Amino acid sequence: MFGRPSSAASLGSILAAVMTAVGGSAFVAAVALVAITHYMHRAVTEVIAATDSVHTAEEMEVDLLVHSRLDERMGRAQLEGQLRGWLVEIRRHVDTQAEERLVEEVAARVDTYLLESHRARALGLSVEQVAAEMAPELEAAFLPLESLVHLNVQQTRDTAGVAARWDRMANYFGLAIACVLVLSVTSVLLWLRLFAFRSVLELETAMRRFAEGDKTARAPVTGARELRDIAIHFNEMAAALERQYDNQIAFLGGVVHDLRNPLSVLKLSSAALSNPKTPPSVDGTHKALGMIKRQVERLERMLEDLLDAARVEAGHLELRITRRDLRDVCREVVETFREGAPRHELLLLLPAEPVPLAFDPLRIEQVLTNLVSNAIKYSPRGGVVEVELGQRERHAVLEVRDHGIGIPEEDRKRIFEPFRRSGASRGLVPGAGMGLFVARRIVEAHRGRIEVESECGIGTRFRVHLPESASDASAAA
Ligand code: ADP
Repeated sequence: MFGRPSSAASLGSILAAVMTAVGGSAFVAAVALVAITHYMHRAVTEVIAATDSVHTAEEMEVDLLVHSRLDERMGRAQLEGQLRGWLVEIRRHVDTQAEERLVEEVAARVDTYLLESHRARALGLSVEQVAAEMAPELEAAFLPLESLVHLNVQQTRDTAGVAARWDRMANYFGLAIACVLVLSVTSVLLWLRLFAFRSVLELETAMRRFAEGDKTARAPVTGARELRDIAIHFNEMAAALERQYDNQIAFLGGVVHDLRNPLSVLKLSSAALSNPKTPPSVDGTHKALGMIKRQVERLERMLEDLLDAARVEAGHLELRITRRDLRDVCREVVETFREGAPRHELLLLLPAEPVPLAFDPLRIEQVLTNLVSNAIKYSPRGGVVEVELGQRERHAVLEVRDHGIGIPEEDRKRIFEPFRRSGASRGLVPGAGMGLFVARRIVEAHRGRIEVESECGIGTRFRVHLPESASDASAAA
């Protein structure tokens, strides 16, 4: 009636997909952040090295200039040491071949300048003359230093350009990740609102309507798989409850109908007995009293059935297990019926050996009584009713056969349900449709089973299988 969903996504898979998207984005963002931080650190290191190189080159230019004009020998020696120190320093920052070539050229030119300067000073020239003499060497040393400054400035600019590009890329990337996250969260919220929550609300409305008494209320099967499953189960449960409700109404109708017959017989009989105008004969009184007795017994049986069914439904079926010969129970039941059913021939077929079994004798007697009573009731034209007891491997088999009206195939499965009566017997024989329901529960509580075979107009055969083991039966009880 309510089809199972086939391809709906489950809440779990949807949440897993969203979590994967969010987690994946976060992971990519983290990796990108690490890469960008790493690159930025490298760029900053490069810029610092280039700045140091520029600073050192400029210091060297100043020192060379001062050296060329200094008359004092000690000061010049100090400046020369400083110049060599700057050369060591500047070499530390070399990171390209072009820079290396320039640094080597600087070193060579500074050496040449210093050599020439010593030579010129050895000639005893004045400071101005030495400066004029050394101008070309000084110029030659300045040239690679200027180129070095230039190169490092250029390197800094390049690094800044690449860093700016990375910065732009990081911005775009961050924006994209933010968009993915916002989209994921928005779509989850939308999905929750449009599908998940809507389905939950519809489910809740259907349940509320049902609880308020609308037995036709059903939940639409929509949304995620779990919610569809809940809706399907709710609908199945609601349909079962509705069926049960209909059954109970039908049952009440049946009970009222079945009670009316004995009651009207009681009313007629008591009216006949109490009519002062036509006092009944002794024979008539006996007849009326007999009728009253039978109807009262019938009413009593119906009430017993109802009470039993109510007890079984409430789960109060208690078994008092004892070990007895099942043949005794069969004999007692058949004897009881033999007296009260003169139109029927009751045959009892028992094995020669005892059939010792662990069971509740009163309950099994109740089952057999119901089966034999039905066999008699539903063979209105009389006939043979057979009760046969047999023994198989580890269980006993009790069979009740009649040649009565039979049970149509469509009713056979349902006669064990409460309030179920076959269409063929309804209106023909009074009953509440409880006997077989109670019988099946009793047999199942003994870990046994009950089955029926029947043919309309030919007869019916009920078979009860009871396990031999006492522990099985007690455990089930
Ligand atoms: P009741 O006999 O009080 O209606 P049961 O539960 O004993 O209730 O039986 C359920 C229904 O099964 C009966 O109403 C009848 O339609 C059918 N039934 C049971 N036993 C027989 C039988 N031996 N022959 C034909 N129909 C039977």
